[in-house]
Amino acid sequence: MLIYETRNNPNRRLSPNFIASEFFCHCKKCDPQIIDMDFVVTLQQYRDQLNKLASMGYIQKIDDKKDIGISLNRGYSCEKHNASIPNAEPDSQHLKGTAGDITFTNIKNPNMMKLAMIAYKVGFTGIGVYDDRLHVDLRTNRDAYNYALALWIDDSWHPRAR
Ligand SMILES: [Zn+2]
Ligand SMILES: [Zn+2]
Repeated sequence: MLIYETRNNPNRRLSPNFIASEFFCHCKKCDPQIIDMDFVVTLQQYRDQLNKLASMGYIQKIDDKKDIGISLNRGYSCEKHNASIPNAEPDSQHLKGTAGDITFTNIKNPNMMKLAMIAYKVGFTGIGVYDDRLHVDLRTNRDAYNYALALWIDDSWHPRAR
């Protein structure tokens, strides 16, 4: 379900650990902000799952008393902002409010491959793996081969920024 937030309500809580402004377009000007609530819910489930796996010892935390956190470096992007990114993918999932570029806090030696597998397990259908971050999205139209998952690994060679 898509919602249309405005910059007037940056602190609106969308889930237990995420507020609206975290998803806002970085151009800082456009409105409304398109946010897919299914994406927010999946991101929250992902955060919860990481903390559950940490409590089971499958992921090591830096500070045991604190949660593992997820920071959004990019959520929704408007057409104009997307076009300003070098070699931007013209039909990026970020335009649809169904994508995030994320980093993690409080994980000791984060293993991006392991974190990508957990992202797949909670239901993300597009995952990009980089040295220090993941791109996750909820695309419904995966690719020409209709794989269950669109997965790419450190595509710095790739001509399109996703
Ligand atoms: Zn914008
Ligand atoms: Zn992305």
